[in-house]
Amino acid sequence: MGFLSGKRALIVGVATDRSIAWGIAQAMHREGAELAFTYQNERLRERVEPLAQSLGSTLTVELDVGTDEQIDRAFEPLKRDWGSLDIVVHAVANAPREALTGGFVDHTSREAFRLAHEISSYSFTALARAARPLMQRRAGALLTLSYLGAVRSIPNYNVMGLAKASLEASVRFLAADLGPLGIRVNAISAGPIKTLAAAGIAGFRRMLAQVAEIAPLRRNVTPEDVGNAAAFLCSDLAAGITGEILYVDNGFSTVGMSFAQEAEG
Ligand code: NAD
Repeated sequence: MGFLSGKRALIVGVATDRSIAWGIAQAMHREGAELAFTYQNERLRERVEPLAQSLGSTLTVELDVGTDEQIDRAFEPLKRDWGSLDIVVHAVANAPREALTGGFVDHTSREAFRLAHEISSYSFTALARAARPLMQRRAGALLTLSYLGAVRSIPNYNVMGLAKASLEASVRFLAADLGPLGIRVNAISAGPIKTLAAAGIAGFRRMLAQVAEIAPLRRNVTPEDVGNAAAFLCSDLAAGITGEILYVDNGFSTVGMSFAQEAEG
């Protein structure tokens, strides 16, 4: 019996079989969770539905987190078919591509700032509000995905770093607010992984190469690495953990200087 058996999880953020959310879904399925999925729009429906079905899930709903109406609508089938919910995984981010290329000052427009924060940060709070009634009297767990750009400047990551900083702050405020209801709220700060969203960040290949060279484990993380940590964090094994940002990055964030380059020089 898996350590998530008996749990019901809503996975928001699968676009392809390379999505981090897909790695999380696979790990949660392996550990016995029952899954529901959302897809952002009709175009992605064709990709997400077969993936969902391959894990025995029949509950797939459209959800663009940009409006509260869509969020309310997406929770209707969950209320009807499940009536309760244990886990929400939020693996969603967006910013205009031009904001993720080049200098921060020149490429951070008011509109890019608004969009990045609304889709990548505010949507987590909006989902938490929608999920709360379904998590009553259950050991609920909310999980989101962050990146090192929340706490360090990273070339080209720009306004997304600000949105991730806001997202990480919201993890702490949500944890404080929902803790008395028994709902835990955490984030995983993942190392870079080649996905659709990552392709929008200029110089992403160089980021991967640097991590593989500098991280203590000398490799990049995989969706499986993140999926396993996510399954643990959303399970009762992590019952004492909330408001936390867990780094799943092969230790990259713990290094102040490159030991590999030092050895060469
Ligand atoms: P991905 O492209 O596979 O997933 C991003 C998802 O966001 C997609 O499913 C997309 O449909 C969804 N999305 C975007 N705008 C949306 C909207 N308005 N409404 C609903 N859904 C919307 O890429 P990914 O890398 O798996 O990204 C998942 C999360 O992981 C993001 O928060 C990302 O910032 C974070 N993350 C990624 C990396 C990385 O290197 N790939 C590293 C750390 C954190």
